[in-house]
Amino acid sequence: MNKYRILLYYKFINIENSEEFSKEHLKLCKDIRLKGRILIADEGINGTVSGTIEQTEKYMNALKRDDRFIDMIFKIDESNEHAFKKMYVRHKDSIITLLPEDDVNPNKKVGKYLKPNEFYQMLQRDDVIIVDGRNDYEYDIGHFRGAIRSNVNNFKEFPKWIDDNLSEYKNKKVLTYCTGGIRCEKLTGVLLDHGFDDVYHLEGGIVTYGKDPEIRGKLWDGKCYVFDERISVRINNTDEDIVISKCNHCGEKSDRYINCINDDCHKQHICCEKCEKAQEGFCSSNCRQYVLEHPEKDARLRFKEKAKMYKRYNQYHEKAKEAISKLDKNYSA
Ligand SMILES: [Zn+2]
Ligand SMILES: [Zn+2]
Repeated sequence: MNKYRILLYYKFINIENSEEFSKEHLKLCKDIRLKGRILIADEGINGTVSGTIEQTEKYMNALKRDDRFIDMIFKIDESNEHAFKKMYVRHKDSIITLLPEDDVNPNKKVGKYLKPNEFYQMLQRDDVIIVDGRNDYEYDIGHFRGAIRSNVNNFKEFPKWIDDNLSEYKNKKVLTYCTGGIRCEKLTGVLLDHGFDDVYHLEGGIVTYGKDPEIRGKLWDGKCYVFDERISVRINNTDEDIVISKCNHCGEKSDRYINCINDDCHKQHICCEKCEKAQEGFCSSNCRQYVLEHPEKDARLRFKEKAKMYKRYNQYHEKAKEAISKLDKNYSA
């Protein structure tokens, strides 16, 4: 098993002709047959890709042959399959987006980096506040013990949220963390810009912290949300690993996110296996009612049509199997 790998990486570095570079990069990835999502901008590169061990080796070597990326740090997860369906390389104005008036350059202004062990020690001090640098829905299925939940749905909202909520803590040390470390590269700069003097961030992010052989994810509660098909991964590798979130329907402990079956809602919500069956995948009775009135908005129809088509043409490739199993598993109604 574990024939596949998932790579997570980023680097803030000036990329000349970044649009042209994006096109070449997409070709490189497609030639290697990777899958994943990569953002490229003048300010750098940010990617998550999956592939076989051989493919991911090839990619890492190709990237490191480029002087700009020679010191790229890849976080590597083992996997039994791809974590994406397709390969995207998107050219953007920035790889981590803030409003123009809030933007910071991590190569010029950034917080102090902490290794997992140092971060673990700092978590336990009294003169710190711990700020989760991610979105609210990521926080909800897992976070560091004692961390402040930001009510942001988009990274752009952080500067205002900081002004509205953290002003009273300016005399404290601020610890920030995010999934792989990239968001903190800018978040710490924003904090410095907003009058905080002693700002730290977790080097390599939560995923690196979980893999540290000594710390093994201690003081992390719940799961870590990830932006690929796995949806969440385990971080606390001690016997303190717990579930902290609750099913939106029954309140039982659960850390499964699903999307509402109403195509006009599609709300990602926490739902236990039992309730997914019982509620047929709807997030609310409103959505159930809505689909009764608008039957064409029932995502199960799409699954059904897809599954039927695959069966009709005797297609049993990965995508077909997925559509058929999705239909059989939860939505046999
Ligand atoms: Zn439930
Ligand atoms: Zn819904």
